[in-house]
Amino acid sequence: MSTASASAPLELSGWRHLYSGKVRDLYAPEDPADRRLLVVASDRVSAFDFALEPGIPEKGALLTALSRWWFDRLADGADPVSNHLVAGAIPAEVADRAMLAMSLEMLPIECVVRGYLTGSGWAEYQQSGTVCGIPLPSGLQNGDRLPEPLFTPAYKAPMGQHDENITFERTAELVGAERATQLRDVSLAVYRRAAAIAEERGLILADTKFEFGVDADGVLRLADEVLTSDSSRYWDAEAWRTGSTPTERMASFDKQIVRDWLSAHWDKQGTPPLLPAEIVAQTAARYAELLERLTA
Ligand code: ATP
Ligand code: MG
Repeated sequence: MSTASASAPLELSGWRHLYSGKVRDLYAPEDPADRRLLVVASDRVSAFDFALEPGIPEKGALLTALSRWWFDRLADGADPVSNHLVAGAIPAEVADRAMLAMSLEMLPIECVVRGYLTGSGWAEYQQSGTVCGIPLPSGLQNGDRLPEPLFTPAYKAPMGQHDENITFERTAELVGAERATQLRDVSLAVYRRAAAIAEERGLILADTKFEFGVDADGVLRLADEVLTSDSSRYWDAEAWRTGSTPTERMASFDKQIVRDWLSAHWDKQGTPPLLPAEIVAQTAARYAELLERLTA
């Protein structure tokens, strides 16, 4: 699959292109009475909220396969979580990388859950001993497990702007206290459940981000992508236990490879540099390995 074709929205018969986010293209049925949505994951990659070039071959299909697998797992069991998937025919051209979904009223909150200290959380902790304003015990190292998973919401900024960490109180102002409490409780419960499933497969789910929407009946549903290597940090559990440096401990199955390369080669001003072929290849391999380890 050529990566160039991944950047432009496709012509799909019966569907009209609605919107393109950094990674996904959304299509609506030509029939306006049909309230479904086709969510097509492209091979585009973003880091630090910047869209990068080139794409990662097969990434859209891998993300879609991971999301589907997790949506199914989470919809099962004693405490099922509703999601946005609906049954129906998906155009053949995008069969491996599209999901048919209900068109939901999306909540403008990125529901981040952190079970481990790293990334922007580690940066803040070193400055102030807090993560998103939540005080933590002293003496924690990069990659350490947190005493409890933390719900650290962000405001989902309109296209072109950067998401902004917000407090729980601000979340309650934006979506109402009851909805905010529900978002927090569901996010923490899904994180715990997913982390336990990942652990059985020798993986640490270090952190993740959920997006939720509300359907016509007011039901909260997990939407967008879920527990993918784009929206989550996954580490190898064995390497985490035995490694002695942060790099060894956080052997990741996600786009950390891209973030690390970008941090070392770019000051986050202006246009990001092109990703080198070996970074693209390594990222593609790690995404494929994650799917294999989780779902095999
Ligand atoms: P932005 O939308 O700011 O570009 P993003 O880069 O995260 O953010 P993508 O993930 O590429 O965007 O695009 C997916 C878009 O589709 C998101 O805006 C997401 O909120 C929206 N979305 C996902 N599932 C649904 C759904 N079931 N109903 C309505 N919108 C949805
Ligand atoms: Mg998104």
